[in-house]
Amino acid sequence: MNFLIAGAGFAGAVVARELADAGHTVHVIDRRPHIAGNAYDEYDSHGVLIHRYGPHIFHTNGARIAEYLSRFTEWRPYEHRVLGVVDGKTYPFPINRDTLNQLYGLDLDEAAAAAFFERVREPRDPVATSEDVVLNSVGRDLYEKFFLNYTRKQWGMDPAQLKAGVAARIPVRTNTDDRYFTDSFQAMPAEGYTRMFERMLDHPSISVELEVEFDEVRARGGYDHIIYTGPIDAFYGYRFGRLPYRSLRFEHEFLPGVAQYQAVGTVNYPNDHAFTRITEFKHLTGQQHEGTSLVREYPEADGDPYYPVPSNDNEALFKRYESLAKDEANVTFVGRLAQYRYYNMDQVVGAALAAARQLIG
Ligand code: FAD
Ligand code: UDP
Repeated sequence: MNFLIAGAGFAGAVVARELADAGHTVHVIDRRPHIAGNAYDEYDSHGVLIHRYGPHIFHTNGARIAEYLSRFTEWRPYEHRVLGVVDGKTYPFPINRDTLNQLYGLDLDEAAAAAFFERVREPRDPVATSEDVVLNSVGRDLYEKFFLNYTRKQWGMDPAQLKAGVAARIPVRTNTDDRYFTDSFQAMPAEGYTRMFERMLDHPSISVELEVEFDEVRARGGYDHIIYTGPIDAFYGYRFGRLPYRSLRFEHEFLPGVAQYQAVGTVNYPNDHAFTRITEFKHLTGQQHEGTSLVREYPEADGDPYYPVPSNDNEALFKRYESLAKDEANVTFVGRLAQYRYYNMDQVVGAALAAARQLIG
């Protein structure tokens, strides 16, 4: 069969490769001038490997998914660490026992840290919103110091308006593990994401066309089936109204002569500045350079769609689009924007492999 795939990110590239390996012909298009979607990385004008659309750290508990991507890349082991700034001081984040001890001048052991959380938490039942999640586990003071303002900045909404899943991404620990993720596999593609995508799409039955709109290519005709990985509301001409997608503005900066700007890959600023966090790429990539490159993320309502916004209203609106999608015989919707799910990269790979399996039969 002859497939058209809209979007050259994880969703599009994985489905493309699977279909091509199964003997189909695949044309992958993207409106951007590059492949790899939001995972795109490149050397900036100073020669530092950066992520154009914000920091991307690969982590998964899915051995099958890591194995799959390992066909296209070698890996550099990397465990991400994050500090949160509160009242001008940095603390380990996610909140762990060291965070408590440093913040409150305590000397808690593991059992005492558990007792501390038990004492300060505000039990919620049901735990329906992101506010519930945080208050229920760490109580109001830690909520206000680390979560409330960051969330308002990131989403333009209160934690009480967001579904539980958003804050539930962040664990709370009574031990001193200061890694951001605890997945069994945590690593960066050794030569970068873009190189991994180049290899994935390097197949005699895959053609790639960039800087072109889906509607334009679709109108040319000639395809048996379409895989669409863009925003689902756009596919349907916004007929039920716009699905909110949160955007970001990325401010990149190179600092000459600064070997290291900050102690860890990312520093979060819940209560200060209009940006949420600063990431220093050399921590992620292990690159050696006399200078260093940073990115600051400024959340915005308008702009390229980066995050589905998990609220009850938005999910209800998505369901209306999804019911149209379910009736399409010749279109498959997959990916973070098309499925309106707050997917990490590995989850998109999983969804794409599942979609490809269905198509291949
Ligand atoms: P995308 O990568 O968005 O690809 C969709 C592509 O479709 C885009 O390139 C777009 O240009 C194209 N497209 C859309 N509509 C059209 C059209 N009409 N015509 C032509 N082309 C079109 N995940 C992690 O696992 N770890 C992380 O550390 C991490 N950090 C992140 C940080 C940020 C700031 C963001 C925004 C996301 C992060 N993610 C992370 C999530 C990760 O980016 C996504 O899970 C993944 O990139 C989604 O892949 P996708 O193919 O679904 O979508
Ligand atoms: N969050 C927060 N304070 C922080 C970090 C995260 O309140 O210092 C909340 C916020 O609502 C954020 C969510 O937890 O959107 C998920 O954080 P994560 O770091 O997973 O976001 P992503 O990397 O996907 O932007």
